Amino acid sequence: MLKLLTSRNTSLLLASLGASTIAAGYLMRENARISAAEKRKLYPPSADYPDLRKHNNCMASALTPAIYAKLRDKITPNNWTLDQCIQTGVDNPGHPFIKTVGMVAGDEESYEVFAELFDPVIKDRHNGYDPRSMKHPTDLDASKITSGMFDERYVLSSRVRTGRSVRGLSLPPACTRSERREVERVVVQALSGLKGDLTGRYYSLSEMTDLEQQRLIDEHFLFDKPVSPLLTAAGMARDWPDARGIWHNNDKNFLIWINEEDHTRIISMEKGGNMKRVFERFCRGLKQVEHLIQERGWEFMWNERLGYVLTCPSNLGTGLRAGVHVRLPKLSKDPRFNKILDNLRLQKRGTGGVDTAAVGDIFDISNNDRLGRSEVELVQLVIDGVNYLIECEKRLEKGQDIKIPAPLPQFRK
Ligand code: ADP
Ligand code: MG
Repeated sequence: MLKLLTSRNTSLLLASLGASTIAAGYLMRENARISAAEKRKLYPPSADYPDLRKHNNCMASALTPAIYAKLRDKITPNNWTLDQCIQTGVDNPGHPFIKTVGMVAGDEESYEVFAELFDPVIKDRHNGYDPRSMKHPTDLDASKITSGMFDERYVLSSRVRTGRSVRGLSLPPACTRSERREVERVVVQALSGLKGDLTGRYYSLSEMTDLEQQRLIDEHFLFDKPVSPLLTAAGMARDWPDARGIWHNNDKNFLIWINEEDHTRIISMEKGGNMKRVFERFCRGLKQVEHLIQERGWEFMWNERLGYVLTCPSNLGTGLRAGVHVRLPKLSKDPRFNKILDNLRLQKRGTGGVDTAAVGDIFDISNNDRLGRSEVELVQLVIDGVNYLIECEKRLEKGQDIKIPAPLPQFRK
């Protein structure tokens, strides 16, 4: 910019024009022609470093001025920058209920180009998993699950979800309208190939009435409207509701969300406590969806270190969140509740989703980690953990004491 101001042409032009208002307009136009990348380089990285002093998220803990200086001017093949990755974590210092990650990927390559920041964030978020040296396992054999039937006096519903991204298209924080519509087209076409009990249809959000939409949200089938600042600051609410929607089978127990936080979210759920059956349908449906996508010449983003690549680093690996809505009136009032959950690597949410508080003693309890352990291992961890919570609840009902279990081991190299 300085160069432009003092360039011979500019000063000649200014002299000849004379009028300051015209000159100012001219300068503004010239300024706009400088690309965002060039503008950044006019200032040292230290001048752009975000103020994270009041922040409590994984990104804020991992970002140092040195890492920022190294990565600020890098750009992915889809023109995505570090500042765009971290914007949501800069704008949202904390979350009322969970510790957030504080950054998102704009494309598959973000995880490589900005690895110096993503890697420590991933390690922090996934119980010590080292994405440089470790390999992520996949296991979708539901027959290995044991004790998968919960006591239905406590467990009201069971659910397993994951996400999958279509390779070659930018992720929701970064995608263009055309890319988003392409995701919808590719996935909806593939899903029409599902047969038997998985046969269903697609419901586009833009063609749904507000009432229909609200009913699906209240029944826990559909994602909430993108009011959370975590989503809006990450650019994921742009153009809402264009190219968003939900596909579900006729029984409403196998569902696919399109273009919410990820290209796709694949969900198996039902009322009651039969987690093993929910996971069996999840594995069967997921394998068929992947096959149908591949038949059309597309594939999911995946690599052996990170597993399935999704928008938020918290969902890398399996992308799997297995959870129940469970009633724990006594245990949830016990001061040891949070410690027990932490040690079992479980997370609690309100039953209206991640941004809601729990009401009436009912919680959404699910696995906290998604990377470094297989789908089978994570579902088994949730089953064993939730059974332990129910045991505690029963003991408290009888006036007996409960124990804080030993913490599950961290990943080690
Ligand atoms: P996700 O991690 O799948 O995005 P959210 O916390 O955003 O989950 O919630 C999405 C929706 O799924 C909410 O409507 C929530 O009530 C519903 N949900 C989550 N877990 C369960 C469950 N075990 N049973 C019924 N509904 C659930
Ligand atoms: Mg969600």
